[in-house]
Amino acid sequence: MPPRTLVLFDIDATLLNTQDAGVVAYEMASVKVFGVAFSFVNVPLHGRLDSENYADAVRRHGLGIDHVEHADAFQSAYAIALEKVAEDRGGFEACPGIVSLLECLTDLPEIQIGLLTGNWEKTGRFKIQAAGIDGTIFRCNAFAEHGEHRDELVPVARHQFKSMHGAVPDRIIVIGDTPRDVQCAKAGQAEAVAVATGVFDAEALRATGADLVVENLSPTEGLLEFLRR
Ligand SMILES: [Mg+2]
Repeated sequence: MPPRTLVLFDIDATLLNTQDAGVVAYEMASVKVFGVAFSFVNVPLHGRLDSENYADAVRRHGLGIDHVEHADAFQSAYAIALEKVAEDRGGFEACPGIVSLLECLTDLPEIQIGLLTGNWEKTGRFKIQAAGIDGTIFRCNAFAEHGEHRDELVPVARHQFKSMHGAVPDRIIVIGDTPRDVQCAKAGQAEAVAVATGVFDAEALRATGADLVVENLSPTEGLLEFLRR
């Protein structure tokens, strides 16, 4: 029997905590490519795609260039910068409970896990590896390259599941730490679990209309019961 539920994990502040290493790496990459350090003060980055953050920063800094033309150079510089930051910090930290939850889920035949993230693929996979998490367990994935906006990503993962198993899953559950994770779940006819391990507390996340809100992703009975329902 193929799995019937696809559980999609956001990366930052859901699987792992980079302590804003992404922002530091954006700044380093922009100095390298454009000679200007991108500032993200008061910019609501959480839950957006890397590609949105990059294009928006190019516009905000009035560089007067076509961001698409320089996207590859920026992405390469960003990847190098992120590796440097991770090395300086001795890697990134998995969020509380996540290692145990992933162990539980990979043992369940009815569940397939994947990634739904605003990260570009290469650097998203790097973050996971730098947090000591086995990236090969995520098999139906949607990254920043797969859409213009996060709301376009659930259908990408659904399509991958169908290619792999021959039918769409009965349920798709998006797990993330921001209102944008919940919103993209709803846009994609999926369910949403919101986790308060990022900048949004449980009360703020409940206001998003998430189907379940948890303080962290420890594999409690309540969380497992919801995922296996
Ligand atoms: Mg996140």
